This record gives sequence, C-alpha cells and structure tokens, in this order.
Amino acid sequence: MSSFNCEHCGAPCLDSPAGYTTGCEHYPPDVPKIPDIVRQCLVEWMVQTVQEISEDGWAAGWYSGIEHLAWDAMQGKEIDGLQWCSTKRALRKLKAVSDYLGVWVHWDKEVGEPRAIPVWVWVKIHEAKGGRIDD
Ligand SMILES: [Zn+2]
Repeated sequence: MSSFNCEHCGAPCLDSPAGYTTGCEHYPPDVPKIPDIVRQCLVEWMVQTVQEISEDGWAAGWYSGIEHLAWDAMQGKEIDGLQWCSTKRALRKLKAVSDYLGVWVHWDKEVGEPRAIPVWVWVKIHEAKGGRIDD
C-alpha cells in the first residue's frame, strides 16, 4: 500500500493510515469523500493549531520552519519548544487530521501565508531541507 497515480487517468491516489483518501473512478478511495466545507474547516483548524503551537513555543505567529519542527515532533522526535503536554496533545490531533486528509500545512513564501499541500509533496520539501530550518 502506497500512494500512486492511476495509470488510466493520472489521478493521484493518496494512501494514509486510514486507507486511500483520494482516488478516481478506477480506484475509488477507501474513506468517504470529505465535503469541501468540512475539509476547509479542518485545514483552517490545522493552520490555527500550528500558529498556537508557534505562539506557545516562540511567541511568533508562524515561527520560521515551525511546520518542519511540528512534523518531526508528530513522527515522535523530541523537539525543544514542543515538549509540553498541551502541545503534544495538539500534535497528536494534527497528525490524525493530516493522515486523514493527506495534507500538511506549509508556509507559502509566494503568497505569504500558510496553505495545505499534499503530504507526498510536503515530504519531498521536508527531506530537501535535511533538518535545517534556518531560512
Ligand atoms: Zn483513474
């Protein structure tokens, strides 16, 4: 089980711990399609929660690279500034929503605000960073 693009229509079929979250007529998704309004609410909640974690840890609305630190913490790494119980609870919820939607929130330099991107795109960005969060 892993993400792939349909060989018939090219649609991305994204795998997650909850099963395939997106699909097409050839490979229907495992999870019911989430209504756009619900997806939008969940994404807004993710952005808001990352901002709160950033405020708590660094007194900054969106500490530079916070999404990288939060992502590492979600995978079980101990991160300075993210060690509080309330933050860990928030990170567990973020991971559940991220897994379910197949997206993560990333600061978009072009538009100057955070936005949701597919996890498979995010993982490439995160790996390219190689753990550095200095820009
Ligand atoms: Zn297809």
